[in-house]
Amino acid sequence: MTSTPAPLPRIAIAGIAIESSTFTPYRSEEADFEVRRGTAEILDRYPFTPPEAEYVGVLHARALPGGQLEAEVYARWKQEICEGLAAAGPLDGFFFDVHGAMSVVGLDDAEGDLVTSVRAVIGEEVVVGTAMDLHGNVSPTLFENCDLLTCYRHAPHIDAWETRERGLTDLVAAAARVRDGGPRPHRSLVHVPILLPGEKTSTRIEPARSLYARIPALTQRPGVTDVSCWIGFAWADQPRCQAAIVAHGEDPAAVDAAALELATALWEVRHDFVFVAPTGSFEECLDEAIASSARPFWISDSGDNPGAGGADDTTFCLARLAAREEIRSGEVSALMVSLVDPATTDAAREAGPGGRFEAQVGGRIDAREPGPVPLALQVEALDEAPGTGRSAALRVLEDGRPTGLTVVVTARRSQWATHGMYERLGLTMTGPDVVVVKMGYLEPDQYEAAADWRLALTPGGVDQDLLRLGHSRIARPMIPFDPEIPPPTVAAGGRRH
Ligand SMILES: [Zn+2]
Repeated sequence: MTSTPAPLPRIAIAGIAIESSTFTPYRSEEADFEVRRGTAEILDRYPFTPPEAEYVGVLHARALPGGQLEAEVYARWKQEICEGLAAAGPLDGFFFDVHGAMSVVGLDDAEGDLVTSVRAVIGEEVVVGTAMDLHGNVSPTLFENCDLLTCYRHAPHIDAWETRERGLTDLVAAAARVRDGGPRPHRSLVHVPILLPGEKTSTRIEPARSLYARIPALTQRPGVTDVSCWIGFAWADQPRCQAAIVAHGEDPAAVDAAALELATALWEVRHDFVFVAPTGSFEECLDEAIASSARPFWISDSGDNPGAGGADDTTFCLARLAAREEIRSGEVSALMVSLVDPATTDAAREAGPGGRFEAQVGGRIDAREPGPVPLALQVEALDEAPGTGRSAALRVLEDGRPTGLTVVVTARRSQWATHGMYERLGLTMTGPDVVVVKMGYLEPDQYEAAADWRLALTPGGVDQDLLRLGHSRIARPMIPFDPEIPPPTVAAGGRRH
């Protein structure tokens, strides 16, 4: 007799991935997203797919961090995902490919809302897994609707694809097991009432380095498959925003113990998180940069970091650079990179290389003080690249003479994190004396290029000084908003059935 092999488990994939601040005036819209539809396009997103499954791609949309997503766009994509899943036929698993900190106008828990709607279509039996950014949030609703949850273990997120591969591999295995009559995984959630800016939780430094370093050993314990630590997202004023630990595996007692152990470890270091670089006001950082012999001296304009959801056009730093005597005279060279400003980018293209023009730069989306800065400019270089779009390097002029300040403007919100982007505009990361960049912690190329670095606590939609933002809807008590509070306990757990 020959036995027919069991058919492969069928896994559907869909999701909307964005990290969006509710404190920025920027609204994320359809055009900000890269949208993939259908199995071929969606599978093309992954450098891996476990071969032990058959996949059905529905819709996946991802964007650079931004502001709240327009409700109409979200509703339309949600409907498309649900209709696609309904048409997909019988499923064993669903891979919910999200970031976890999506804000949608009018919703407090967008991922929770989306996965609830998905569950209503695919039913209770299908095994649902997700692999998220550690800056996402795990609401009770999201937890309730997922069997398996995992997230990155590094910030910067060098393990983003490794995490998705782990999440999808575990999901395929669990879906096959459950289909063949095996038990669903047990999972455990511990919320930790602490809200931290990402720039205090880089895994390059303590205490996050040691905290995340505990994870691999926890996942080696018998009966434990995965343990994850979400730092949470601080720039949304929503009840779900806080840190969370989730573990899953076959042995309930071992899973609960691992989750509580990591949560306790996080709780014990709750007052130890410090900024990843020395901080100060922008004026303090610029004084230090100009006085320093370290070149290039980098400064992060962290309150308007588009990588966390900032508008990418506040002019707080630009105006101060343009007014600084040592830069105006050319004694110190400075690069401000970058501001999203389609009008100035277009004016630069019209003027052409070497051309001169005047413009009001920046301050159109996030118009907080000082707003658009009037500058006389000379075009140094123009570029148009897939992904980043149109951009221009502009030298600031004064009385017809070049100052020491160069500013990069772009037609799209963008993060200037890699050498290649600078080179396309004839710039280098190490050329200027002072580089001011709209970032939080520096990405690897920048970190290497910087001889010294300050994190300027500038105003903006992702202000790193959380107490200045004015949260009113988060759960309380919460550190750092409240003094000493009771330690976390297991919030929820169990198998979905
Ligand atoms: Zn993140």
